[in-house]
Amino acid sequence: MDYQVDLTNCDREPIHIPGKVQSHGFLVAVNSANHIQFVSENVSAFLPATASSLLGKPVTAFEDLLNQPDTPGFLVQMLQMSRRAKNYDYINPYYLEIDSVGYNLILSKTGECFIFEFEPAAGATQTDIQKIIGRSVSEMLNGRHLQQLLENAANQIKSLIGYDRIMIYKFLEDGHGEVIAEVKNDDLEPFLGLHYPATDIPKQARELYKINLTRIISDVNTESSPILTIVDNSQSTSLDLTHATLRAVSPIHIQYLKNMGVASSFSISLMYKDELWGLVACHNYTPRFINYQARDASKLVGQIISSALEYKQEEEDTAKITEYKDAFAELTELLRKDGDITEAVTRHATTILDVTDATGAALILEDRTATLGNTPNAEQLAQLVNWLKQNMDDQIYYTHNLSNVYKPGVAFSQVASGVLACTLSKELGEMMIWFKPEQLSTINWAGNPDKPVEIREDGLLQLSPRRSFEVWSETVQYASVHWTRAEITYVLKLREEILYAINRQATQIRTLNEKLQQAYEELDTFSFTISHDLRTPLSSIKNYSELLLQTNTSLDDNARNILKKVVNGADKMNFLIKEVLHYSKVGRTDVEFVRIDMKHLVQELQNEITVALNPQHLKLTVGNTPDIHGDPTMIRQVFANLLNNAIKYSGKSNPSVVTIEGKENNNEIVYAISDNGIGIDLQYYNRIFELFKRMSNVREYEGTGVGLAIVKRIIEKHQGRIWVESELGVGTTFYVAFRNIQDA
Ligand code: ADP
Repeated sequence: MDYQVDLTNCDREPIHIPGKVQSHGFLVAVNSANHIQFVSENVSAFLPATASSLLGKPVTAFEDLLNQPDTPGFLVQMLQMSRRAKNYDYINPYYLEIDSVGYNLILSKTGECFIFEFEPAAGATQTDIQKIIGRSVSEMLNGRHLQQLLENAANQIKSLIGYDRIMIYKFLEDGHGEVIAEVKNDDLEPFLGLHYPATDIPKQARELYKINLTRIISDVNTESSPILTIVDNSQSTSLDLTHATLRAVSPIHIQYLKNMGVASSFSISLMYKDELWGLVACHNYTPRFINYQARDASKLVGQIISSALEYKQEEEDTAKITEYKDAFAELTELLRKDGDITEAVTRHATTILDVTDATGAALILEDRTATLGNTPNAEQLAQLVNWLKQNMDDQIYYTHNLSNVYKPGVAFSQVASGVLACTLSKELGEMMIWFKPEQLSTINWAGNPDKPVEIREDGLLQLSPRRSFEVWSETVQYASVHWTRAEITYVLKLREEILYAINRQATQIRTLNEKLQQAYEELDTFSFTISHDLRTPLSSIKNYSELLLQTNTSLDDNARNILKKVVNGADKMNFLIKEVLHYSKVGRTDVEFVRIDMKHLVQELQNEITVALNPQHLKLTVGNTPDIHGDPTMIRQVFANLLNNAIKYSGKSNPSVVTIEGKENNNEIVYAISDNGIGIDLQYYNRIFELFKRMSNVREYEGTGVGLAIVKRIIEKHQGRIWVESELGVGTTFYVAFRNIQDA
């Protein structure tokens, strides 16, 4: 049977309400009516009274027991002050002597209850501590590097509390801890560099470390004392000891410390930006209690380390940050200058690689993938990008252990165990990715972290902390150096800059498009109005010239010839105007798609054109004529123009051979109209579709240069394509392709 159990079960242990206190001190808690509601059973070891005799009594009865003739009513006064106070730092600790023994009274609050904790005041006196602290701080801060500062701090704490071993323990990304500084007695084996699994400190314990910055376990070998309450004992557990100092320790943790041979433990929380960064963990191998003042002084050292962490860490990153910053500034400049974003950030001396310590990078933008340095191969990269697209919820994703979350990553772990990805456009799947290579490393665990369960004598599995803390080495594969905050910061900055460049370009293109559209519309309106307005005066010119010719018999031949030329010119001009009107009309008309009988259309055109052009030696071949869908008038115009041109520009060949033929494939129907005429100069292929453009070899042929412009416009309206193949003096083939729409 598969049976799984691990130390994460500890996460559910309610360690803040253990129902017990450590027995080096005692506890009394009063309710809102100032009556005693909770008392630790061991009160009788300190005072001439039993716990049960105190329960339910007013706080004054307890005060009488404390016998403080010089400060009558001090407990009630303390409570009155506390009810108005936000924190009790100015009260705590309250020093008092009971039968010539010094105690520190520590007040805290939970719900409606006030808790009085009494613990021995023995140990360093307040003045001593202050001196030591003054010295500690200046010596500690002497450390130029963070590591040195931590070592100095460990030293100072050792002299402050006199424990056998002081370790500075740092939590890593996945929650497990590493001993990064240590000061110890010479006879002890070193723990420096050892790693402890995350489960050694359960989640709720970490939360408590954030609230109480110090925690003492004075002796793991003494029994803790139960807390009794008025109602019945089952409720004794309900006193929340989150803020109390005597809180008894979880049995699992006691066992853990015993397994390590530790008798007393003291810890100081190290905070970095409101999170638990690490702990100063202090071990003593014989019982050792340290009093409130010494703990408070240690807390202060911890707070100094915490605030130093911030600026020392940042100071140490400065050199790197300067590099990233310079690279970022350079890239920003390049992005402003270069029109092509990919080119700007990948083709110059400074590239996106330089805002990190990565050894490879990829930029996926506008259907292009540009890579730099060492990256997975194209196929691996494409698959990784796909996976990232589906799994990235945020704009940034990073891991130093890709194959842990993405199995295929094993194949390219050598170049990309570390991946940092950052989206540019989620919809288009555009992103930047940085890679770091695998870095094999060895982690020395304090005991095998995977074996939290042991088999009991009766054969059952039992959850227990490790018995052995012998160094257990593990080689870590498929992992890279971690991504730093500085790298992430500069990657995000670069992202902003690239998005800005993309936006800028999009705006430019949109503005250009709008301008173009406007120009088109203006041209249409212009050509329409001007053509229209020209027609009336033109007909007048023609009509009056013809009238002159018919009615005025006194004109000599010369005058008649001139008048005939005027009429002729007017005809030509009229034709041109019609063509331009056609052209502008196509722009303004919507296409209504109907099926066109092409066989019939070609036949009709053939008849019309042969009548109009009266070609001498024409050999016109009509091949397949598959039907197409389009606007009948417009399509007719397309074929009329193309056939007309083919016949016109091959008119001097003998015979002039013109063919029209259509072919059908899945998506399109393509018609080819070819001739063996004068041909078109290759370099002007595109210009022939411009309005009024005519080639230099057609001077002897009549024409306006409007026909192909109309054809192109119509084809575009039909979302089709037009292109041409030609050779000067050999012939020309025009191709027109239409979308193949299947009839319903
Ligand atoms: P045009 O009225 O001059 O024929 P088009 O717009 O129809 O005007 O054609 C534009 C130009 O393209 C023509 O002037 C000619 O130079 C060239 N052209 C068009 N079709 C042919 C062809 N079949 N053979 C050679 N040149 C052609």
